[in-house]
Amino acid sequence: CGVFGMYSPQPLDLAWMTYLGIFALQHRGQEAAGIAVSDGDKFHVEKDLGLVTQVFDERRLDSVRLANARVSIGHVRYSTTGSNLRFNAQPLTTRTNKGILGLAHNGNFVNAREVRNQMLMEGALFATTNDSEVMLNLIARESHMDLVEATAAAMQQLEGGYACVLMSRTALIGFRDPNGVRPLVIGQRDHPEGIGAYVIASEPCALFAVGARLLRDVLPGELVWIDHNGLHSLMVHPARPTPCSFEWIYFARSDSQLDGVDTHASRIRMGEQLAREFPVDADIVVPVPDSGMGAAIGYARESGIPFDYGLYKNPYAGRTFLAPTQEARDLKVKMKLSPTSAVRGKRVVLIDDSIVRGTTSRQIVNLLREAGATEVHFRVSSPPIKHPCFYGIDTAARKELVASTHSIEQIRELIGADSLCFISERGLKEAVSGPGLCLACFNGEYPAGIPLFNDTDKLALE
Ligand code: 5GP
Ligand code: SF4
Ligand code: MG
Repeated sequence: CGVFGMYSPQPLDLAWMTYLGIFALQHRGQEAAGIAVSDGDKFHVEKDLGLVTQVFDERRLDSVRLANARVSIGHVRYSTTGSNLRFNAQPLTTRTNKGILGLAHNGNFVNAREVRNQMLMEGALFATTNDSEVMLNLIARESHMDLVEATAAAMQQLEGGYACVLMSRTALIGFRDPNGVRPLVIGQRDHPEGIGAYVIASEPCALFAVGARLLRDVLPGELVWIDHNGLHSLMVHPARPTPCSFEWIYFARSDSQLDGVDTHASRIRMGEQLAREFPVDADIVVPVPDSGMGAAIGYARESGIPFDYGLYKNPYAGRTFLAPTQEARDLKVKMKLSPTSAVRGKRVVLIDDSIVRGTTSRQIVNLLREAGATEVHFRVSSPPIKHPCFYGIDTAARKELVASTHSIEQIRELIGADSLCFISERGLKEAVSGPGLCLACFNGEYPAGIPLFNDTDKLALE
């Protein structure tokens, strides 16, 4: 998911700004979109299933627009199959003893089920199956505390990987789990006379989209809030940073810098590392667009094998994995990718960021062979994904993860490649070279806890 929040001391069209912000985060979720805006009195929210541009036409955006808007949040949702329900769209809003609150979150609280069950026993009511509602209930329950204290108290009771924005009518709050698994950044717009608007977002691209500059990352375990007195910070947990390595491998946009590490530059280093670890005799290096682009540039540079444009990607096709069924995903690969003449008669090094189920990869190898590639050597800029993600990336249920049930040689055979190699865990760490990293989907070492309840084997949630 992608989250966005804005607080402006001066009148600003926050409905429009928030639209621009979540549009810049569209790659983080394409199933639902929502915006909430308040002027200190009125509180408007609109959300629905679909892309940002589908949910918000002129009229719908107008219905959340407020002349003296002060605070707003927005969300784009990415969820697993089955939970693609309209009532789970965010921001989630509710009336509490602290006034109306709106919450948008990215990630998962791994103990949400336990906390929810405990609260149900105590008489709490829940309208959705969304983790956000557990968070909002926890905040509302601390009736003797102010909003910031209550949010900090709720953070102390929830575990997992999450980054959230929370708004009241008069304040914007952002907070990030103690491991900083999910990203969150703060930015500010300059204002000629006075304090410019503050922005909190999943990635810097959303700040730039509204004309703000990056101030800094929200720290792991930190809660920041913005009100008429400006920006404030509270360290709720001591930071023990293990941000999600998948953000650098694939998820974050190539123009983002997260926790001080540039995603595009680290993707290039992953490719260079792959070329050193797994060289091969070949004629061209071809990326699977767009996710394999950075690593392919790096592989070509390091190996000296020319980079070429071997796969055309239809720019009107979305991210393939979001299609709900295998059949739909299979068709979408053809909708999305087709080989160019560059591969004819060539030995191809094909570069992609990850192999999840192996089905897309098999089709792509097949497409290249049909187009006349003589050899296809597959190089992957992440280690084999063997474990489910509990922190908000839908890497599919464990039984669907091809690397959890197949050896690398078996996967090679399955996808029909001449050779198949994955970057080493050590190589990946060097390429990102930031703080400690979460590598749980590769090595099973979960830094932010795992859920106790696990009834469906469909483990990752929104
Ligand atoms: P596969 O060969 O595993 O079907 O597809 C690999 C490609 O699709 C990679 O580019 C990967 O980024 C993307 N992909 C496919 N399924 C998923 C998924 O469930 N989650 C994520 N994060 N990426 C996926
Ligand atoms: Fe990211 Fe994998 Fe950790 Fe999930 S398990 S947070 S995808 S590194
Ligand atoms: Mg891809």
